[in-house]
Amino acid sequence: MKYVSTRGSAPALPFDDVLLAGLARDGGLYVPETWPRFSRAEIEALRGLPYGELAARVMQPFVGGRIAEADFARLVAQSYADFGHAAVAPLSQLGANTWLLELFHGPTLSFKDYALQLVGRLFDHVLKQRGQGVTIVGATSGDTGPAAIEACRDREAIEIFILHPKGRVSEVQRRQMTTVLSPNVHNVAIEGTFDDCQDLVKAMFNDQAFRERFRLGAFNSINWARIMAQIVYFFAAATALGAPRRAVTFAVPTGNFGNVYAAYAARKMGLPVKRLVVGSNTNDILTRFFDIGTMEMVPVTATVSPSMDIQVSSNFERLLFDYYGRDGARLAGVMARFRRQGRVTFGAARWRRMGRLFAGYRLDDGATKAAIRRLYEATGHLLDPHTAIGVVAGEACHGESDSALVCVATAHPAKFPAAVEEATGVRPALPARMADLFERRERCEVLPNDLGTVQDFVSARLAAKAAA
Ligand SMILES: *Cc1c(COP(=O)(O)O)cnc(C)c1O
Repeated sequence: MKYVSTRGSAPALPFDDVLLAGLARDGGLYVPETWPRFSRAEIEALRGLPYGELAARVMQPFVGGRIAEADFARLVAQSYADFGHAAVAPLSQLGANTWLLELFHGPTLSFKDYALQLVGRLFDHVLKQRGQGVTIVGATSGDTGPAAIEACRDREAIEIFILHPKGRVSEVQRRQMTTVLSPNVHNVAIEGTFDDCQDLVKAMFNDQAFRERFRLGAFNSINWARIMAQIVYFFAAATALGAPRRAVTFAVPTGNFGNVYAAYAARKMGLPVKRLVVGSNTNDILTRFFDIGTMEMVPVTATVSPSMDIQVSSNFERLLFDYYGRDGARLAGVMARFRRQGRVTFGAARWRRMGRLFAGYRLDDGATKAAIRRLYEATGHLLDPHTAIGVVAGEACHGESDSALVCVATAHPAKFPAAVEEATGVRPALPARMADLFERRERCEVLPNDLGTVQDFVSARLAAKAAA
């Protein structure tokens, strides 16, 4: 199995190279050269398997022999061994034909753990085999930082530096990062905003000498391996509900389009997915596109579902690649036009074809809080704001379809306690295994918003470790 770029001019690469590369050299995103297909019998055989075994089977074709089968199976099993639920990604029932796919049983209570726990181990494995190491550098507004840190802690080939804006992430989010005391984890609180943190990270990557000297790397949301790991739970959910005989509709609260694209990939692999519903907050570029056929960038506004506060959904390009007949050169032109003009249409026929599979639905903050309250009263489930948006979007777009409606719960309500409490009067508690989070010791370096100071800190920390 090789991977090709959505912009058509980067070299095709095998799995391990794509894993480490992230973005393709031509600015595109890597996708499999062809979609592996699972027969009905193969899908049938997945039902009831333990999550780790099901995961190894679903992902094996994508690895293409570049990691030994037994090694891969072991890394997958280790990735999900410590999740807080025996089923890893359990379903709970919300209504007669409506289900919640709970993806908040990982170490940081976000669905991002499902991909990052594996990606951290894959990085470590491939780098060790090559006798290399990497310094992961990232900025966080509070959401991805904890999942990235948990994915990298104690991995020998990885050092990780995460910058967060001092005093501007929630206490739960900060503690999820700063209470990880592993020697390869370096938390930095920057005296500035999230944008300042992002600018510092960008500047470090743009400093070529610095980047090469410390082998800077990232595993951002466009990394193919993250998508691959997310395909698994769509197979797990659908087979548990009766696939391949019964079709499913997935409703996914969406930001960068990674999660819902993984559901699309599962469909390309043979899973009977009837429709894909994209939930948006006020930052509704995707919902507007599915409604009117024009994709237009507008400034981002802050909402109670901050993980979906995006201007452009980067993984959407992977979907477009298929809808443009996998013509990378043509898509490169379309994407360049979009960047230049801030708006683009993809043609009425193509938009209609997309609309047969996808639907979008938007909730503003008021509607989101009302939904959290209504769903709590109707079902007894406390839902985080992102999840509540997905559920309402699913209900609105599923209609009378006979497919099972599966709404993806992307975060535990205790990750967003303020919004949930405001909506319901109930403050969601952290799961028992995290109940002592507020007593754990923290370690974090506070630094000014100054590139030289931050670079000196990175360099000093790495030198100290090399000497130790
Ligand atoms: C990251 C995130 C999302 C958005 O997922 P995408 O794959 O970027 O579409 C939704 N909800 C939560 C809680 C998240 O952390």
